[in-house]
Amino acid sequence: MLRLGDTGPPVAEVRRKLVMLSLLPKPDDALQDPEEAVYDDACDRAVRHFQQQRGLNVDGLVGRETSEVLEEARWRLGDRPLSHQVSRPLRGDDVGLLQRRLLDMGFNCGRADGIFGPETAQALRELQRSLAVNPDGICGPDTFRALDRLVKTVTGGHHQNLREAEALARSGPRLGGKVVVIDPGHGGLDHGNVANGLTEASIVEDLASRLEGRLIATGVQAHLTRSISGRHARQAVRDDEARATLANEFRADLFVSLHVDSHPSPQANGVATYFFGTDRFGQSSAMGQRFAELVLREIAARTDLLNCGTHGKTWDLLRRTKMPAVRLDLGYLTNPSDAARLADPAFRDVVAEAILVAVQRLYLPPDDDVPTGALRIDSLWAESAGRA
Ligand SMILES: [Zn+2]
Repeated sequence: MLRLGDTGPPVAEVRRKLVMLSLLPKPDDALQDPEEAVYDDACDRAVRHFQQQRGLNVDGLVGRETSEVLEEARWRLGDRPLSHQVSRPLRGDDVGLLQRRLLDMGFNCGRADGIFGPETAQALRELQRSLAVNPDGICGPDTFRALDRLVKTVTGGHHQNLREAEALARSGPRLGGKVVVIDPGHGGLDHGNVANGLTEASIVEDLASRLEGRLIATGVQAHLTRSISGRHARQAVRDDEARATLANEFRADLFVSLHVDSHPSPQANGVATYFFGTDRFGQSSAMGQRFAELVLREIAARTDLLNCGTHGKTWDLLRRTKMPAVRLDLGYLTNPSDAARLADPAFRDVVAEAILVAVQRLYLPPDDDVPTGALRIDSLWAESAGRA
């Protein structure tokens, strides 16, 4: 147990860690003999500050717990390879940051507790698969690099530099090989909303079909969560849990759930998108949000539907799907003007095109982000083919 007035090498070690955390000023190089180190008032204040930050007992004493947490706090992401060590799990701020990033991107590693357990290893493997990195469950240089690139893409990437641009160019904006699961929100005996002579199921099934065709044409593996009018032999899958499980089993890169809204008031109208997110737990899917924003942006740019915004929700389907997922509510069936648009196959074609462009944009580097609504997918496609 170290306290005010103590001296010697153990105190030097504590001071060194506090300096790394910027809680003590950097010492003058000439005065660094460990034997001379003193647990002085400044050191005591810094320890109390640290204990306060970390939710420890604030007593200014460095006992077992404070000492362990000080040790954990010195690790920065990238300092050491991270993996699941069964006998003695790794603990540290680097593990906590990795977990927060995994959670931000929609990979479920449980709570961000700074302990590298089996759930974190599993989530890391899923992330590695989605990044096309060897899924060995070890967060080493390749994964750090890919992670860094992905975070920049997801957050919109200011501070671009040449190296990032190069890395992105190498990974390429190609859609080929990506797996997208399309979820017609209703079908079979479930008609969804019914109004103005239309059923929600018939609209989302038709839209799913148009989107599926376009995705396949660009080299994407597209799967549907339920059969459409007997077209697929596969048994219709109904509840949210089963559809989410299906998407997880496909190891989908993206998930799109299609719905049309309804409201007691015929006045309600417009298009909205949803992603997994909640302020309360600070957990959300950053890439899901980006994707949801893109889908809405592209639809709003190509149609005259009212833009009702993108919102974070914890609905079961968004929560259970492990990949970036978006739910689209395309207009209100109960609004005569929205319903008239939805009834028009040409309109549904425009929407399918918009979703496809959003998928492509998600994988484009931010500085290639051409103005919304200005491009059709064939020109994006030609552009990416030209680059490769
Ligand atoms: Zn619905």
